[in-house]
Amino acid sequence: MELNETVIVVTGGGSGIGAAMCRRFAAERPRHIVVVDRDAAGAEATVAALTETGIGATAVTLDVADAEQTEDLIARTRADHGEIDLFCANAGIGSAAGIDADDRVWESMWQINVHAHVIAARALLPAWLDRGRGYLLTTASAAGLLTNLGDAPYSVTKHAAVALAEWLSITYGDRGITVSCLCPQGVNTPLLFGDADGALATEVVKAQRILEPETVADVVAAAVADERFLILPHEEVAGYEQARAGERERWLRAMRRMQAGLDGR
Ligand code: NAD
Repeated sequence: MELNETVIVVTGGGSGIGAAMCRRFAAERPRHIVVVDRDAAGAEATVAALTETGIGATAVTLDVADAEQTEDLIARTRADHGEIDLFCANAGIGSAAGIDADDRVWESMWQINVHAHVIAARALLPAWLDRGRGYLLTTASAAGLLTNLGDAPYSVTKHAAVALAEWLSITYGDRGITVSCLCPQGVNTPLLFGDADGALATEVVKAQRILEPETVADVVAAAVADERFLILPHEEVAGYEQARAGERERWLRAMRRMQAGLDGR
């Protein structure tokens, strides 16, 4: 899809990959970018950077897991700027927790990493299907194709995010709806290296080839231009996924060896 003169919404646009996508999309001269984040200062900072390039941009502070707030965001964007051409459901969190993570942690991981995509798709699809056009880009993770050592809720919810993106693409792809699913490995953002709640990061993730968010955003822009479903900024992930699918027992053994290394066994 050509992004020139389009209306774009990016959730999690106040930091990391989302902020870099906003800045990269601005180079394509869209009509307006709505930068959504629960962190108001982050969203405002991205809007300031976009405004400097002459792109119309608005910051919206909300929780993507709140259906009413997301429905309101979509309705207001449509009223103020016209139909949304590209919606990037990118906000996400990690837990750095195992199976014994508190149920509240499991629930918020589910809500933010998966259900927020359901909420957005439900609100976007009716008008998109009527006009026969719409583009939903969701950010999952390579953890959604493989696993994330040390983070059970992250691995499970990112697999669900990939499954949802595939389901939407299969169900609506012939009716004008384009879906892309972004699945990076390590990217140099606060999610990976921060010490705040929701940071990810096992030593194995940090030992991977870490990309800058700007590099990921360049790959995203190229994939959106081509309307490609699976976006793999780390190309090696395609091989890992094939190895997992082709020889599951061997892949599990290799992952256990990595886990043992992490555990110091
Ligand atoms: P980040 O922490 O830099 O940015 C995430 C942004 O999402 C933050 O600004 C945060 O405030 C916002 N956010 C979180 N929960 C929210 C909520 N409920 N409502 C509104 N905003 C919310 O992290 P990032 O690395 O840029 O992460 C972006 C996406 O990329 C996430 O979905 C993440 O899982 C995914 N991802 C990241 C990596 C990595 O290594 N950084 C790898 C694979 C996938």
